Amino acid sequence: MMQTFHTKALKDPIFKEVSLAAKALGLEAYVIGGFVRDYLLGREQKQDIDFVAVGSGIALARAVAKRLPGHPKVSVFKNFGTAMVQHQGMQLEFVGARKESYQRDSRKPLVEDGTLEDDQQRRDFTINALALSLGEEDFGRLLDPFNGLKDLENALIRTPLEPETTYSDDPLRMIRAIRFAAQLGFRIHRDSLNAISIQKDRIRIVSRERITDELHKILLTPKPSEGLGLLHKTGLLEYILPELVALQGIEEREGQRHKDNFWHTLEVVDNISRTTDNLWLRWAALLHDIGKAPTKRFDAKIGWTFHGHEYVGSKMVYKLFKRLRLPLNEKMKYVQKLVMMSSRPIVLSNDYVTDAAVRRLVFDAGDDVEDLMTLCEADITTKNPKKQKRYLKNFRLVREKIQEVEERDRIRNFQPPVSGEEIMETFGLQPCREIGIIKEAIKEAILEGEIPNAHGAARDYMIRKGREIGLEPLKH
Ligand code: ATP
Ligand code: MG
Repeated sequence: MMQTFHTKALKDPIFKEVSLAAKALGLEAYVIGGFVRDYLLGREQKQDIDFVAVGSGIALARAVAKRLPGHPKVSVFKNFGTAMVQHQGMQLEFVGARKESYQRDSRKPLVEDGTLEDDQQRRDFTINALALSLGEEDFGRLLDPFNGLKDLENALIRTPLEPETTYSDDPLRMIRAIRFAAQLGFRIHRDSLNAISIQKDRIRIVSRERITDELHKILLTPKPSEGLGLLHKTGLLEYILPELVALQGIEEREGQRHKDNFWHTLEVVDNISRTTDNLWLRWAALLHDIGKAPTKRFDAKIGWTFHGHEYVGSKMVYKLFKRLRLPLNEKMKYVQKLVMMSSRPIVLSNDYVTDAAVRRLVFDAGDDVEDLMTLCEADITTKNPKKQKRYLKNFRLVREKIQEVEERDRIRNFQPPVSGEEIMETFGLQPCREIGIIKEAIKEAILEGEIPNAHGAARDYMIRKGREIGLEPLKH
């Protein structure tokens, strides 16, 4: 077999250090996994590097740390037999070469010491099993028993061992296959794809956190519909996001059809991904229509309706986030809000845009108003170029109007120009219901454009409003 060397991949002095440390311990060491793969692809390399030692990975990590300036700390994960060292912004992961065998009910294998090739066999994909030697004699030699290099050239995701076993052993690999295909623009080998479809039910033994982790990586690719489409095609999406799958299909009644809201949603996610890397805005795009499945009705007069789907959808977000172990904090609230408001600018742009409607939009959306507009623009998936142009133009007008109203009225992060204390002092009141009524009336008057958002005008309005409900200002 021809030997190839990739010493250029190992220019960073850290590799020499690992090599020397391994030599001193009398064991073989290799770089493996993502670092090698991304180097060979000419892809930007991440700062995490995986090392395998034929022997103790933990001992190698300790020996390496001792050689490095400042003797960085070694974090040991005894249960996994791995150790991690941080060095100059890099994360160095060490593991001993191992052989794995799996039980039916767990992703956690029984582990015993093995050779490098045993270790390569237990890796998920051939392209992730490529190793470079750190031996003194053969520094940089590529070890590729499963033709990973060829798969890299052919842009192919393939498992080192028989796919059904590989996926059944650790079902997380099913989603990883799709994630790597989406990230790298690779195809998944047909046998793998079949095996995933067959083994999909095994995804149940994988923790939600791990699934969500991979899902996020898919959502953050430039064209998420590729990964999401594969999740759907293999049947995995039904386990992860059944709410989304429920949007699939077109129904026809009395000659009226509605669009397929599943494929529409994927298009919206692709659209928004061209303008934003904000994961949560991408989530909002993914979930903006989930309320359409439970609210779908056919009305003989008006055809298909999804009445209140925004509200129902935003209510569904909490359960979905909880199930997927997503954060139930302001990130979730942001997604809920965008789902809830997702039709507001559309309604606006259909009519003549009044200042009052724009002020209300800005008041309700606050700082998220731009993201909301971005979502609405991404939501345009009509294939009619004329309509598309018109919709985009309308949203541009809404955006301009937002800017205009904002400069004049400063509605975003609205603070009432007259405070509760001022109302109490003016009328000589103790805390009571009337204060709230007056405050609300002032806010409404500003949003409706009856008065400007300024203290003097608001104070006059307060006195008028107070008199209307039988209050008289105190004399000073
Ligand atoms: P990236 O870090 O860019 O996502 P990576 O290939 O480094 O890609 P990691 O998740 O960091 O992926 O894993 C490092 C290596 O460990 C992989 O390249 C692969 O060889 C192996 N690996 C990770 N997870 C699994 C798994 N579930 N089954 C088998 N091997 C795995
Ligand atoms: Mg990695």
